[in-house]
Amino acid sequence: MNFLEERIVKDGVVKEGNVLKVDSFLNHQMDIGLLDQMGAEFKRRFADRPVNKILTIEASGIGIACIAARHFNVPVVFAKKSQSINLDGDMYVAEVESFTHKCINHVIVAQKFLGPKDHVLIIDDFLANGCALQGLIQIVQSSGATVEGIGIAVEKGFQSGGRIIRNLGFRLESLAIVDGMNAETGEIRFRDQEKADTENTVCREKDICRSATLD
Ligand code: 5GP
Repeated sequence: MNFLEERIVKDGVVKEGNVLKVDSFLNHQMDIGLLDQMGAEFKRRFADRPVNKILTIEASGIGIACIAARHFNVPVVFAKKSQSINLDGDMYVAEVESFTHKCINHVIVAQKFLGPKDHVLIIDDFLANGCALQGLIQIVQSSGATVEGIGIAVEKGFQSGGRIIRNLGFRLESLAIVDGMNAETGEIRFRDQEKADTENTVCREKDICRSATLD
């Protein structure tokens, strides 16, 4: 087990409805030492990518993205979930279905913060069905920027998001992949790291093929 999996086993709580609560260390109260370790691990995994910006979505992606950004030495842009009077100028907008809140959100990024010269690492706390990520990818693509990779803290491997995003050819690295959990016993089963690495390698090869075709 890696450091994040160990922490999930220690402090994560499995709820009914396939929800894993990590609010004591990741997305409500935040353990900054742990976030820093995660940031360093994202930097290690994406060291070969020319990342100049990190994109995330409010609210719970922001803390993780900001600490990761210290390791990449780049700014963070976070997509907003509602129109606010502070948003001005032209915007990129995508529709996203919320897994936890069961509603449709518009996610919005001001056009002045993302453009064709940007090489973006997308970071978020959870990957479930992939709706949030697909919204962020859509925003990056509308801006003409490049998605260099996607870093996720916890992927729920028994939901379809990871498969969909990897099949689209994106380089997706999840620090912990939960393959099953039981709300009655509290048991959490993680994907074997070797199996996860093989999937990431296959994904990287696909990525290479994709850019080869584009050249
Ligand atoms: P998706 O769009 O991939 O279906 O869901 C991703 C978003 O839903 C994440 O940004 C996260 O905020 C939330 N989410 C999905 N599953 C869980 C979960 O099991 N626990 C928590 N805490 N949040 C989740």
